[in-house]
Amino acid sequence: MEPGLAWGDGFWQRKYMSEKVIIIGSGPAGYTAALYTARADLNPLLFAGLQPGGQLMITTDVENYPGFPEGIMGPEMMELFKKQAERFGARIEHREVTQVDLSQRPFKVWVGEEIYEAESLIVSTGASAKWIGLEGEQIFGGYGVSACATCDGFFFRNKEVIIVGGGDTAMEEANYLTRHCSRVYIVHRRDEFRASKIMQDRVMNNPKIEIIWNTVIDEILGDMEPVKKVKGVRLHNIVTGEKWEKEISGVFVAIGHKPNSDLFTGVLDMDEVGYLKTVPGSTKTNIDGVFAAGDVADSVYRQAVSAAGTGCMAAIDAERFLEHIGH
Ligand code: NAP
Repeated sequence: MEPGLAWGDGFWQRKYMSEKVIIIGSGPAGYTAALYTARADLNPLLFAGLQPGGQLMITTDVENYPGFPEGIMGPEMMELFKKQAERFGARIEHREVTQVDLSQRPFKVWVGEEIYEAESLIVSTGASAKWIGLEGEQIFGGYGVSACATCDGFFFRNKEVIIVGGGDTAMEEANYLTRHCSRVYIVHRRDEFRASKIMQDRVMNNPKIEIIWNTVIDEILGDMEPVKKVKGVRLHNIVTGEKWEKEISGVFVAIGHKPNSDLFTGVLDMDEVGYLKTVPGSTKTNIDGVFAAGDVADSVYRQAVSAAGTGCMAAIDAERFLEHIGH
């Protein structure tokens, strides 16, 4: 749409005509919301952000998304989601939303110096796994390093893996991994877990799990050729100073997730960690016309299929909202 100019932040900025719906974020939730709103003739505009496709772009085979009996690579699946939304006219821009103003409708959305306006907004900015900050996490992400046991545990059948973390996620994922792996080591930086007692008990009572206390991973070791894969880790006991190498096939990082909700701090209701709160059974946030879908509003399931499901719900909620306000 043709931009006009508006005064803002001390200089003239491009201002666009009001959209019916703007979607922020491009994982399964955002693309599904785009597909549904496009098919409802709402001509959605989706800002995909700087890492289009979300967390699935850092996974390899996705084998638990219904409809793909042979599995599919995460990036390929996101490309299909995108194409399907575009087929019905969704406009997808690989740009990052930097600021929003939800104080009144139309809502304002800043993309750099440009301001877009929208009668409704779907927030599907996802969550990001926290990483330790090791170079090997980047090099071997999807090739032996993972932040999702339910996504990738299956690939380590009868292999030994390490999981890092001492919270409920690490406990839950360690237990899950023992279904596939021959042995699971939990590496924790302290000598006690922060996980709930019941989760700790499950871990302590699982004969396939061994705990390595007071220890951190200094380096992830692996091969680049002929197949890129993890083959070990360099560990460091931070109490005794002892350092040693351990052969291992996989490294799971479970030190928490961070919902990508910083844009909405102080505006949308969120829990203490930053997950957006929605009215149970819907995707409605505390602001009429603003809907939240996918991992940014889900600390529990965090699956591609559940994100797509709530993306669909958000689109239908937005459509009904627009109908209600006469659009
Ligand atoms: P969390 O409770 O914040 O635990 C993160 C763990 O990672 C902590 O043990 C922390 O160590 C460790 N850690 C953080 N940064 C690290 C680093 N750079 N290097 C090494 N270790 C690091 O996160 P979470 O386990 O994902 O849980 C998040 C929330 O979801 C919690 O409220 C949890 O109760 C909830 N949850 C509940 C369930 C359930 O009930 N079924 C399942 C999963 C999650 P320190 O302990 O030393 O800080």
